Amino acid sequence: MSNDRRAELLGTAQALLEHLQLLLGGRICIPAQNAQNTTPAQRAEMDTSEVPQVPPRKDNRRRLQLDVSTLVPMASIFEQQGDFLAAQSLDELYQCIHTCTKCPLGTMRTNFVFGTGNPSADIVFIGEAPGADEDLKGEPFVGRAGQLLTKILAAINLERSDVYICNILKCRPPNNRTPQPSEIEQCKPYLYKQLSLIEPTFVVALGLTAAETLLGRKLKMSRVRGEWFDFYGARLIITYHPAALLRNPELKRDSWEDVQKLRRAYDEFLRSGVLPEPIGHVE
Ligand code: SF4
Repeated sequence: MSNDRRAELLGTAQALLEHLQLLLGGRICIPAQNAQNTTPAQRAEMDTSEVPQVPPRKDNRRRLQLDVSTLVPMASIFEQQGDFLAAQSLDELYQCIHTCTKCPLGTMRTNFVFGTGNPSADIVFIGEAPGADEDLKGEPFVGRAGQLLTKILAAINLERSDVYICNILKCRPPNNRTPQPSEIEQCKPYLYKQLSLIEPTFVVALGLTAAETLLGRKLKMSRVRGEWFDFYGARLIITYHPAALLRNPELKRDSWEDVQKLRRAYDEFLRSGVLPEPIGHVE
């Protein structure tokens, strides 16, 4: 091919690239050697200051940002299920941890209860531990308390598939007793890894066990219920566990106020990206 023909083809290709660059808002990078073959006028046209720039993303969402590796003791990283930290999705995480027997509950369960719902939910509901129905089905909140949670969600125009639902523990404690601190300590890294993959904007702690585990300190329900806390950039609200509402129906009124507050904050967030001011944070 003659030099003239090569120059002609290069010029055509150059013009096409410039045209595409203008069309796509500067998202094509023209190689420097091509620029050297252009005239000063053509180079002036290629100046990025004259090319429409891609506008910044209007995504002012603030979501949970959690580096789980900083929360998990080094020793446990190299123990059983240690590679769960590398999981890139909830499915991968499940595969890593569903055979866990790190604490005695692992040998007593019928089913491991991982969690259910939207894997990129804006709102995550966290209870205490699976009960008998959950243990049998391998799904959280499917018994009477779970049915009540479904109704509570419906009352604020949410379906179970809109949110994510899980527990602090993945295995049922015998006779539904309160989880022991050592069980929580061993299971908590799984929950935090789960949360870091979902990256919710709102976290709802259902009951005191969930609230104290997530905020890292002893709390009084009467003082913290319905208040906002910062949870690694997300907003956490505490309300009663649905099982407590079944035992004490008079608590339903408070619970209703809490979920209405959640709904209002979520609507405001969807509208403006603004989150409610927290009164406290994780310790
Ligand atoms: S409760 Fe958690 S730590 Fe204990 S065996 Fe089950 S998954 Fe493992």
